[in-house]
Amino acid sequence: MSVSPSAMITGASTGIGYATAEFLVEKGWNVFAGVRQQADADRLKEALGEAVLPVMCDVTDAAQVKAAGDQVREALGDQTLAGLVNNAGVAVAGPLLHLPVEDMQRQLEINVTGQLRASQVFAPLLGTETGRSGKPGRIVNISSVAGFSAMPLVTPYACSKHAMEAFTQGLRRELLMYGIDVVAINPGPIATPIWDKAEELDPNQYADTDYISAIERLMGFMVSRGKKGLPPVKVAEAIYAGLTDAKPKLNTVLTPEPLQSWLLSVLPSRMTDRIITKQLGLTPDSLTR
Ligand code: NAD
Repeated sequence: MSVSPSAMITGASTGIGYATAEFLVEKGWNVFAGVRQQADADRLKEALGEAVLPVMCDVTDAAQVKAAGDQVREALGDQTLAGLVNNAGVAVAGPLLHLPVEDMQRQLEINVTGQLRASQVFAPLLGTETGRSGKPGRIVNISSVAGFSAMPLVTPYACSKHAMEAFTQGLRRELLMYGIDVVAINPGPIATPIWDKAEELDPNQYADTDYISAIERLMGFMVSRGKKGLPPVKVAEAIYAGLTDAKPKLNTVLTPEPLQSWLLSVLPSRMTDRIITKQLGLTPDSLTR
């Protein structure tokens, strides 16, 4: 009898993580769903059934990530974990010169250090330790198109996703000897609750800076872009391909704005600087003082 493959997904309560849990269950996988609230654990179990085991896993909490690893180890027995999806993330915005340093630390703590913690805990189950049955597992990191290009005023987020690109590449090279592949998915706007959380950012904290009107403009622009984003199931499909294709793509870009992404990748950076700053009102002639 063949045993169903299993994956651990961090940040599975909503959005891309939830859609991926649902998609993998439909494909016959077992899912360890990282959540932070008991209510989310109960909701996932109710909605997705027996194939889902919710595990408490705040990626900023080392003890909790380790306990999640112990729980997954016990459930797996000697079976290899087929996938780790490093998905948990938040988006921090604000002009760099005025951003509370703690906001940048929080951004990197969740989106980068948190993925390191999860990768360290789950790598033995993916096959860095001996004695597991089944072929080595894979790691799929949820990066972003912001991993290639930094939008002003959302630079903390872009820093975290640029770091995710380096993390993915370096980890892939470090895990090659174990046969554990590591790939990244780079979504553009996807319609998930992350955009509703962007609306919670209070621009008033930057009211006395030269950036306030650009922030207001950017927020309106981003929230409407997010709501027109691709459905999260598209990312779930790409994650599944990353977990199962014989030779998965190292980076899968998924965006409703392919032309914009392509232009960003081919235009000279100085030209892109001029286009973006003009759109947001960040050119020298937009300074009102
Ligand atoms: P979301 O807000 O619906 O999901 C984020 C998930 O991460 C939630 O389950 C949340 O509870 C969890 N999370 C937040 N902090 C956590 C922590 N400390 N520990 C564990 N879990 C934590 O948003 P989403 O859009 O589904 O985001 C998922 C991933 O996709 C993120 O890494 C995000 O950067 C990335 N992404 C999203 C988009 C988009 O447009 N929505 C685009 C590119 C990349």
